[in-house]
Amino acid sequence: MDEPNNPSFSSIICSILEFYIFKNIISRYLYNPPMSSNTTPDWLADDAKHIWHPYSAINSGLPVFAVESAHGVRLKLSDGRELIDGMSSWWCAIHGYNHPILNKAITDQLKSVAHVMFGGLSHQPAVDLANKLIEITPEALQSIFFSDSGSVSVEVAMKMAIQYWHTKNQPKKQKFLTIRGGYHGDTFGAMSVCDPVTGMHQLFSESLNQQFFVDAPSRPFGEACTENDMHAMMQALTEHHPEVAAVILEPVVQGAGGMHFYSADYLNRLRVLCDEYGVLLIFDEIATGFGRTGRLFALEHTEVVPDILCLGKSLTGGYMTLAATLTTTHVSQTISQGKPGLFMHGPTFMANPLACSVALASIELLLNSPWQQNVIRIEQQLKQELKACEPLSCVENVRVLGAIGVVELKQPVDMKTLPQQFVDEGVWVRPFGKLVYLMPPYIIQPDELSLLTKAIYNVISKIKH
Ligand SMILES: *Cc1c(COP(=O)(O)O)cnc(C)c1O
Repeated sequence: MDEPNNPSFSSIICSILEFYIFKNIISRYLYNPPMSSNTTPDWLADDAKHIWHPYSAINSGLPVFAVESAHGVRLKLSDGRELIDGMSSWWCAIHGYNHPILNKAITDQLKSVAHVMFGGLSHQPAVDLANKLIEITPEALQSIFFSDSGSVSVEVAMKMAIQYWHTKNQPKKQKFLTIRGGYHGDTFGAMSVCDPVTGMHQLFSESLNQQFFVDAPSRPFGEACTENDMHAMMQALTEHHPEVAAVILEPVVQGAGGMHFYSADYLNRLRVLCDEYGVLLIFDEIATGFGRTGRLFALEHTEVVPDILCLGKSLTGGYMTLAATLTTTHVSQTISQGKPGLFMHGPTFMANPLACSVALASIELLLNSPWQQNVIRIEQQLKQELKACEPLSCVENVRVLGAIGVVELKQPVDMKTLPQQFVDEGVWVRPFGKLVYLMPPYIIQPDELSLLTKAIYNVISKIKH
């Protein structure tokens, strides 16, 4: 029997085709607007009018790009363009963006509790994370203080050092000794130990605590030091040790203060000097931690265990703000048994459970991945491909360590034009001062990394001076 209402085979095919064509049109024009440079969202005008960005002016006229989403190593702008990320969002997003495992860690934690005060209460995410950090850092570091940002973890480290000496009946030891070219954050204590010139904080010099500075070691990474390399540090310690609570520095790689790589042996010898002169040693690994220099922590390039260690930035894989200050049982017990017997710090959002959960997931993801091979692969490729920049007349030098590639120019870059040029090349690279650098997520593929190094070559080869 004939059934007129039954659609024929060909009409079914037609409607399937129609559905796909329709869906395609809809998704092209509605969900995925075609590439165009004039689809800047309306809200960007209010951004310029009201909001400060890092080290910026309101209504600066400098370009700010609207991000719609991010996935893997790609940032998607609101105008539809995709940029390969060479910054890992300031060294943090080591696994790339929108990672299903990290997303799950946060959404799972959300189901139980997003936040709870840490005064008098505890939770498993904090304890699991503390255990993991204690397991992967040197054995001697057994006590941990969670805070909300790198700068605060540095403040905490400095306060720990002062309280330690206070308890040991040496209340005069309240100053810090450091090397020039460092960067430790933007709060007042942290600012006081940033490079006094490149640290961007001269303006506040009258209200900053005066600390002691010596030149950063000139001995390059990979070389052993001589007595002579230690001379300035030894002299400063001889002169000032009665007032110095701790030496604080970034081991092996100085980050935002100038991207300087130096001899790990300097730190071996510094440890000996600190012990000799009765001064604590603080390592700020906020930038170098979690694999960036080719070791899980930069201190693994040395034989040294610091008294206090600061971690931050990539601790949560770039998902949330969280930092940690670790110290030895000796320091924590001394502080706890002396007067006043309490460590005097306690942030409102201390050990936020969402942040702790995603930090733990990020560390496990890192340790379960071939991260060291990835970093070595990135290092080799950066060395090979950034070499092309060396002959350019604007280039001072090119240097690479781990997943950090730096092209230092002879003059500071023009921030009015360079960021736009990088975006036009399809990459996200944000230089500072004379430094054009790459610090990509570890998951970046060779062809994607080549796009970044090519973009750097293309953009800086147009610089005239
Ligand atoms: C970024 C950084 C800081 C400051 O961290 P914030 O989270 O920005 O406060 C401190 N020390 C080093 C080495 C850093 O790279």
